[in-house]
Amino acid sequence: MAKPLPSDYVEVARWMLGQTPVRTAIAIAGLTLVLFLAALFVAIAFVAMTTDMRELDTSFPMMVVGLVLILAIHELTHALAFRAFGVRPRFRIRRRAKIGTVFYVSAPGSYLRRDEYLAVGLAPLVLLTLILLSAAVLIAVGSAFTATLLAAVALNVAAAVDDMFIAYEVLSYPGETYFEDTGYGFIAYARAGT
Ligand SMILES: [Zn+2]
Repeated sequence: MAKPLPSDYVEVARWMLGQTPVRTAIAIAGLTLVLFLAALFVAIAFVAMTTDMRELDTSFPMMVVGLVLILAIHELTHALAFRAFGVRPRFRIRRRAKIGTVFYVSAPGSYLRRDEYLAVGLAPLVLLTLILLSAAVLIAVGSAFTATLLAAVALNVAAAVDDMFIAYEVLSYPGETYFEDTGYGFIAYARAGT
């Protein structure tokens, strides 16, 4: 199941997050930390204001398992969004020198319109954040499970910093551009002669 590229489209750009300037890498690392803390604060404040929760139990093992799981669920959300647009995603594991082994989703050989590609990229940030926050409010107020959900909200937002940088870059292209996801960046295609 691959979405073909219209025959009159040609490659116009290749962009990889890992090949951006050092200051971009620093900005991403800094923003990841800041957004993790900000999202954690906002999520706890939101649950504290909308429920009777006054204290929060924590369980270190549950937290570790929950945070590893949420990174996998983040990638699965990208995969489901690819599926929603008729694309079969590929699951990959890659070693990255700076942060160790990462599990990620890509869809080489499939081509999405700009806004579809944006939706795939931002699906975990928007949908998963809403689902996790709703679950934290509804299911387990004050338990170690609540604490794990709130930390998962923060980690999911932090994990979406890469997605936000890619989305920002993608938005600089016109709406009729097609994108091929390479896992950590994209190849952009435009109609020949434009
Ligand atoms: Zn992501």
